[in-house]
Amino acid sequence: MKFFGDYHMHTTYSDGRGTVEEMVVAAAQSGLAEMGIADHGPANIGTGVKNEKVFIQIKEELRALQSNNPGIRTYIGVESNILNTKGDLDVSREIIEQLDYLLVGLHPYIRPRRINEAGWIINNQAVWLFPPLKSKVINNNTKALTEAIYKYDVRAITHPGLKMPIDIPEVAKACLKCDTAWEINAGHRFPDYHEVIEAARCGVDFIVNSDAHFPKTVGRLDYGGSVLEKAGIPSERVKNAIDCEE
Ligand SMILES: [Zn+2]
Ligand SMILES: [Zn+2]
Repeated sequence: MKFFGDYHMHTTYSDGRGTVEEMVVAAAQSGLAEMGIADHGPANIGTGVKNEKVFIQIKEELRALQSNNPGIRTYIGVESNILNTKGDLDVSREIIEQLDYLLVGLHPYIRPRRINEAGWIINNQAVWLFPPLKSKVINNNTKALTEAIYKYDVRAITHPGLKMPIDIPEVAKACLKCDTAWEINAGHRFPDYHEVIEAARCGVDFIVNSDAHFPKTVGRLDYGGSVLEKAGIPSERVKNAIDCEE
């Protein structure tokens, strides 16, 4: 299995250590044909972009860089945060419509819009002290993620289940209905083999991304290739892969 694109990486506009240009150059040097910047939405505490207009700024930078980097095709996306169990996002539809694609993910450290919407996130921490909360936490995380998938045109869900457990079959059902891909996040080496198998049995398609926060990790997708091959999942079910012979 060979990967031609990497669509989840961060820049100095959020918590990444490379500028937009450094990430583009790194992607071109790694031999990828396509790359996409998907910085964190503004709700991540300490790691999100300053405001959502930053995405338009990155889009313009990418456009300007394209002529100097003809070997790689660049896209602008976002890794948006889910703010509540209704599936609302931290980036407006007006901005999302101007981007090439939308990724959404659950993150445990986000600023809720309203204080009464914070409980489901806080319970993800409280569950370590009070394990009986676990089923409630899973239900709420699953609801938040599936509602977002139904509400928006979501290209892929990032690291599904990482630090915020979900009901895999329920989330997979929403992904199947909406043609949303299940990310295998090579940077976090997540999900693991067993979870990949479970999601695959539910019929979802996958995408492998690096979640690079440094230029040197752009295009490092080996974990995804090995876990998919071990699970016997063919490249036709992976949005950014082709067979090695092709
Ligand atoms: Zn993330
Ligand atoms: Zn990320």
